[in-house]
Amino acid sequence: AKERGKAQSIAFEDEMRVWPVTPLDLDSDLRRALERDEMRLHYQPIIDMRSGKLAGFEALMRWYHAERGEISPVEFIPVAEETGSIFTLSQWALRTAATQITEWNKARPATEQLEISVNLSGRQFARPDAVSGIIDCLDGVGLPANLLKIEITESTLMEDVDRSTEMLDRLKAADIKICVDDFGTGYSSLSYLHTFPIDTLKIDKSFIQDMTSNYQNLEIVRTITMLGQNLRLDVIAEGVETSEQLAQLRALDCHYAQGFLFSRPIGADQVAAFLAEDKSW
Ligand code: C2E
Ligand code: CA
Ligand code: CA
Ligand code: CA
Repeated sequence: AKERGKAQSIAFEDEMRVWPVTPLDLDSDLRRALERDEMRLHYQPIIDMRSGKLAGFEALMRWYHAERGEISPVEFIPVAEETGSIFTLSQWALRTAATQITEWNKARPATEQLEISVNLSGRQFARPDAVSGIIDCLDGVGLPANLLKIEITESTLMEDVDRSTEMLDRLKAADIKICVDDFGTGYSSLSYLHTFPIDTLKIDKSFIQDMTSNYQNLEIVRTITMLGQNLRLDVIAEGVETSEQLAQLRALDCHYAQGFLFSRPIGADQVAAFLAEDKSW
């Protein structure tokens, strides 16, 4: 029994040597992920609830690790931020997303051009060349600037208000749209809403998900929607999963919605089929 115990513990240790996911470990793999063709972008539809039609997509990174399988962006984005891989990855993501949306838009009438939303992490936003990098990419791909929306979290924006103001002003001057991501979850003051040139507030899914059973969350969603209307900002509800939530958001006249009810984030190859269906809600 003692021998078997030892054998088992060796097997266990062997496994442990292969599997612990330490940030350092992930980082060396992250650096090779693009050249190994392990990265993909998925696209999640954003629906205009007034017309019931597709308005655009949010691009979301996916990592299919050769040995470990799919690793969530919740896990690898912080590592990429920490170690700096985020710069290469984001450049790739922006170029890929801009190229894709340009391709999909070619088949659509001028009045139905789709927007693409791309997430910008805090570390990138802190780079002085962040805005020029984005503009260079748009120019290279030929995507009109007003079809690109940059999503930045509220907490990133509040880290350095002066710098954020400068960066956002430059994005705005280039006609790029700005969306405050995870709105309502950060520690912030609402006063920035009239100093920053913002186009869109995205209500975090934590508020949407139990709004039909949690009265407080419903009131938060109602308040953000009204705030958006009063300040002439677009509002997107994220994480819409049920038709009850959809009905409630429509009753509040929330303009845009995104969530599994409409579609999960899907690969580029599935987007073609999605577009061909031309669904409305
Ligand atoms: P996020 O920007 O808040 O993105 C929304 C997340 O909610 C996505 O998770 C999306 O798949 C998920 N989601 C959308 N609708 C629903 C729904 O109805 N129900 C539920 N349960 N979830 C829904 P994902 O793709 O795992 O991304 C997680 C986070 O990773 C993102 O949160 C974002 O912060 C980060 N991320 C993903 N891609 C990128 C990227 O390209 N760049 C940067 N900087 N961050 C990224
Ligand atoms: Ca986002
Ligand atoms: Ca969110
Ligand atoms: Ca987020």
